[in-house]
This record gives sequence, C-alpha cells and structure tokens, in this order.
Amino acid sequence: MGRVAVKIGANTFQYFTRNPRGGSVKELNVADIENFMAFRKEHNLAMPLAHAPYTLNPCAAKPDVRRFAVETMKDDLGRLEYLPGSCYNFHPGSHVGQGAEEGIRKIAEVLNEVIRPEQKTTVLLETMAGKGSEVGRTFEELRSILDQVDPELAGHIGICMDTCHVWDSGYDIAGDLDGVLKKFDRTVGLERLKAIHLNDSKNPLGAHKDRHEKLGKGCIGLPALLRVVSHPDLKDLPFYLETPNELNGYEKEISLLRRAYENPACSADTVIPEGTGENPSRAEMEQLSERAVSDPADQ
Ligand code: FE
Ligand code: FE
Ligand code: ZN
Repeated sequence: MGRVAVKIGANTFQYFTRNPRGGSVKELNVADIENFMAFRKEHNLAMPLAHAPYTLNPCAAKPDVRRFAVETMKDDLGRLEYLPGSCYNFHPGSHVGQGAEEGIRKIAEVLNEVIRPEQKTTVLLETMAGKGSEVGRTFEELRSILDQVDPELAGHIGICMDTCHVWDSGYDIAGDLDGVLKKFDRTVGLERLKAIHLNDSKNPLGAHKDRHEKLGKGCIGLPALLRVVSHPDLKDLPFYLETPNELNGYEKEISLLRRAYENPACSADTVIPEGTGENPSRAEMEQLSERAVSDPADQ
C-alpha cells in the first residue's frame, strides 16, 4: 500500500487492520513491517492510519458482540505496537434502542478495557453522521465518552473528524467552518483532533445519511473542502480521502489539494467563485487551480 500511495502522490494512507466487514486477520509479518518502515523513511511517508473493521459495535446490547469488539481492538492494538506512534480509528458504534447515554457508557467501558497506559498508539473516535442510532454524532457525545474514560488512559484517545459525517450530522462546515471548529474546541478540545477524513457528501446538511461523494461533486462543495485543508487549525493534520474513486481519481484529488494547499490563493473563493450555482466539473476545477498556480498576477 505504501508503494501505491507514493505512486499517486500521497504522503500517507489509511488501511483496515483486518477484513472491514468480517474481522478475519492476516498473520502478523514482522519482516513485512520492517520493510515498510524502511520504505516509509525513504519516501517520507507519515505513519499510516489504521481503521478498525466496521463490524465492531462496542456499545451493542449483547455481551458477546461487545466481547468481539474488545477482543478485536485488543488484538489490533497489540499488533500496532510494532508500528509505534500509530493512530487507530474506530466507529463508536450504534446503541440500537438503548439510548445514547447507555451507548456512551458502554463505549467508555470498552475503551477502559482495551487501552493500556504504556501503549504507543492513539485510539481515535470517529465523528459520526448520526445514521440510525450511531453514537458520536455530536461533539457533546464524544466529550461524554472521553469524560468516562479512566484519566490515566484518556491521554491515548483522540478524534478523527470526517467532513462528510460532521456535515451530515448538522455541523455547517461549508457556511461556518470557524464556528464549528470553535464549538469543537470548547466541547472536546482541538488538541484532541489527530486526523481528518476528507470527503464530500451526497446529502444536504443534517441529513444523517453518511454517503460520501467525490470532492466538489457533493453538497459540501470544493471551496469549503479546500478551506478545511488550509485552515490554520487543521492544516498540519493528516488528511485521508474516503471518496468513491478509483486510484486515478484519488491521484487527481491529491494533486488538486496539494496545489490549493501550497498556494492558498487558489484555496477558495478566488479560484472558484461562489454563488455560481453548481460546483465546477473536475476538468474545470483542474483548469482553475492550474491557472491560479501558474499565474500569480491573477490574484
Ligand atoms: Fe470510518
Ligand atoms: Fe470516515
Ligand atoms: Zn462514512
């Protein structure tokens, strides 16, 4: 995966620790890890982000389902010690009728069981869209989980903000990114924010749907997503694309983001005028950002 990342111009990537919809896992290959670490150094890749399988539900009502989550997370965290300094992202889960408060209590209980004070991995709670009975749909819910984790372990917990999810859960990152980040800072603390999943959304603000879209093809729109990437509070974080793309689509999105990031003049309204109705096509936005980069006099 490291090779593919480098090939498409990425400097990090996200991977599933095991089958995302099952849970089966490959045998740990230490030689493989050593090779990757050398490759990573050579190509200056940031530590990749591990994602837990979707099938985990740490706040399920059934004890055996929670047990599966505990065993899987413990096993993943044990393996991640071979990649010191990793982040391990997971979905807090769905409370399915038990109520958010009970869900939050169970998630904290799982975290208290799986995190060890000496571990070198930071566990990330992902912000959720609020589909069904998902927990983690508001910053307050994330805060409550943190509050119920043993203070000795809480230092090993961070947040991964998914732009599609926060948008779907009702945070207007397109209209008021500063306001949303202020709210996040007051409720959770920006120092907890360790990664961003950068996705557009197929649905309008507050839709609670969780359907990712290609950058600039959805309801959040390209100017807003470019503002996320270059926002002073976010610009040093790692960004991970989870857009519905093939590899060449990711390659294009990465190069577009890179150009916008390296030249803030094309990072928002100067390049793509707002209020023109629809988002520009991929070809148009490529052209637009190309122009902004190559012709600074345009500013
Ligand atoms: Fe996720
Ligand atoms: Fe995500
Ligand atoms: Zn999602």
